[in-house]
Amino acid sequence: MADEPTRTCGECDGTMLPIVIMDHNYRSATVLHYRMPDDKVSFWTGGYPTAGVVNAFMCAGCGRIALYGALPKTE
Ligand SMILES: [Zn+2]
Repeated sequence: MADEPTRTCGECDGTMLPIVIMDHNYRSATVLHYRMPDDKVSFWTGGYPTAGVVNAFMCAGCGRIALYGALPKTE
C-alpha cells in the first residue's frame, strides 16, 4: 500500500490517504475485491476473470472514505 498514490477529495479538496478497511473486531484487515455481476469462476484458474482489488482512501480534511477498483490484471 505504500506505493499507492494519494488522491484529492472531491468534496473539500483535502488529501486522501490510503487506509485499510477492517471488521469491527479488528482481527482481520479485509482486502476487498470486486467482480462483474455475471462473471463465472474459471475452470482453469479457480478465480473470476474480472476480479480486482478494491483500494480504500480517507480524506484527511473531512473524513470522507472512497473506494476505487483496481483494474484486473491481464496476462
Ligand atoms: Zn474531504
